[in-house]
Amino acid sequence: MKPALLLNASYEPLSIVDWRKAVTLLWLGKAEVLVAQEREVHATHQSITLPSVLRLLRRVRIPRRRVHFSRNNIYRRDGYCCQYCGDRFNGADLTFDHVLPKSRGGDTSWTNIVTSCQPCNRRKNSRTPTEARMPLLTQPYEPRWWPFSAGAGNLEEHPEDWKPYLWT
Ligand SMILES: [Zn+2]
Repeated sequence: MKPALLLNASYEPLSIVDWRKAVTLLWLGKAEVLVAQEREVHATHQSITLPSVLRLLRRVRIPRRRVHFSRNNIYRRDGYCCQYCGDRFNGADLTFDHVLPKSRGGDTSWTNIVTSCQPCNRRKNSRTPTEARMPLLTQPYEPRWWPFSAGAGNLEEHPEDWKPYLWT
């Protein structure tokens, strides 16, 4: 049985739950089905449609979760595109660049690190984007947490009917 995507009452993705947990939430009247799966589960006198996406009826407050700061998550944030020339690369051909160079006091953080291809990284060297005349395509930022940012999961591997809810 396929797991379900659980959304908060505010529609933000909370977690992925197995079908038993999903059905329990529905039975308890704590959630509603937004998208149903094709298959049904037969209980004693009734059949239950399994949800593929369900939403809590009351918003739960969750502590702010942060995306793990890592090389791969930086590449993912930037869509595997060099933030100087805009070309797309494989992870192996990418590196990360300190926008304000480390030698000038730049820190290693979400807001000072961008994805860069190796030629752009060499060309920029220890200059700022302004000095190097290499404007950034997007300003670096800390990405918002969502259920798959924690793992290596690729969005393409998740059910088609989850997708509209993952980008909101
Ligand atoms: Zn480049």
